Amino acid sequence: MKLTREEKAERKRAEKLARETAERRRAEKFMKAAIRQARAAEKAGEVPIGAVIVMDGKVVARAHNLRETKRLATAHAEIIAIEKACRKIKDWRLSGAEMFVTLEPCPMCAGAIANARISSLYFGAYERKCGACGSVHNVLESTGQNSNVSVAGGVLEEECSALVKSFFENKRNKMP
Ligand SMILES: [Zn+2]
Repeated sequence: MKLTREEKAERKRAEKLARETAERRRAEKFMKAAIRQARAAEKAGEVPIGAVIVMDGKVVARAHNLRETKRLATAHAEIIAIEKACRKIKDWRLSGAEMFVTLEPCPMCAGAIANARISSLYFGAYERKCGACGSVHNVLESTGQNSNVSVAGGVLEEECSALVKSFFENKRNKMP
């Protein structure tokens, strides 16, 4: 039986919706892994930010912020995750890799993401004060090194921003 034009259009819309739903579920699954990292950071007394790197559908690196523990300004979750992934695959190029991070990367991390040739970046909460992936700066569009990083913000945004908010609220409440 031949489909009418309306039926064809309807089928296309349904297929598109199904693809988008599947893609969202996939992104949320990996973001949840990043959130678990952020919770581990919080337990260690660090600002709760977590990141994972995925290659061929598998997590190849997990990391969280370790700035206080390591007393190191560069120990952001994204940098540590990139270092782990490079060591694991024995290549500085992470072409085809996807990064999932709970908070919009800062300029340093966005630069590292471009340098590592990461293909896609997904972040949770927007960082309105110094976010470098669209909020304040757009490092990934201006480095010229890799203009092919696709960026999607706001994945599980509420959960991700609640992590950071509650951390700073607790901190304020503990101050004398
Ligand atoms: Zn950073």
